[in-house]
Amino acid sequence: MKLLEDRILKDGHALNESILKVDTFINHQVDPFLMQECAKDFAEHFKGRGITKIATIESSGIAPALLTSIEMGLPLVILKKQPSKVLNDNLYNTMVSSFTKGTNYELTLSKKVVDENDHVLIIDDFLANGEASSGAIRLFRMAHATVEGVGILIEKEFQPGRKKLGEEGIEVYSLARISSMSEGNIVFNS
Ligand code: 5GP
Repeated sequence: MKLLEDRILKDGHALNESILKVDTFINHQVDPFLMQECAKDFAEHFKGRGITKIATIESSGIAPALLTSIEMGLPLVILKKQPSKVLNDNLYNTMVSSFTKGTNYELTLSKKVVDENDHVLIIDDFLANGEASSGAIRLFRMAHATVEGVGILIEKEFQPGRKKLGEEGIEVYSLARISSMSEGNIVFNS
């Protein structure tokens, strides 16, 4: 998506060969109009698939996911990151390793908001190693729901996320695909 790629080139900052900062328009301050255009693109791509719910992982995926849920007229489920705690029978939970923080966290989904009839579209800001999306997929599969696909704002193609999700039988649709990065330099695959 040219609009997003142009914005990444203008306001994004490659810290090194693997981390891209997009704090001024996605992760800290959000450009709602850019997110709305991204949401329209996701909605167009995934229309007609019988999707019943949009899902995301708190917190950076919430803005594009909420706008996608409005575009598609569907509820949004926000998967919660929580520290380990006493077992709760009303939650599905799984461990995920964080690419940016280098730590593990527990991702949870309430049994109240999903069932086996749901067809879910997962939306997130970045795809790196695919751990976050893969954790989200595991949770919905625990509920016997169907994951229809994963929509990503920025995919770093030089990391193995797409391959990992492909092996799980999941379609990945990304709006900006970065083939390589170095400090101050970003190259798209488009
Ligand atoms: P994965 O689980 O695919 O390895 O990483 C996905 C998560 O890590 C995303 O939800 C995002 O929050 C974070 N992330 C991964 N790579 C980057 C990056 O280059 N920049 C930023 N800002 N976040 C990233």
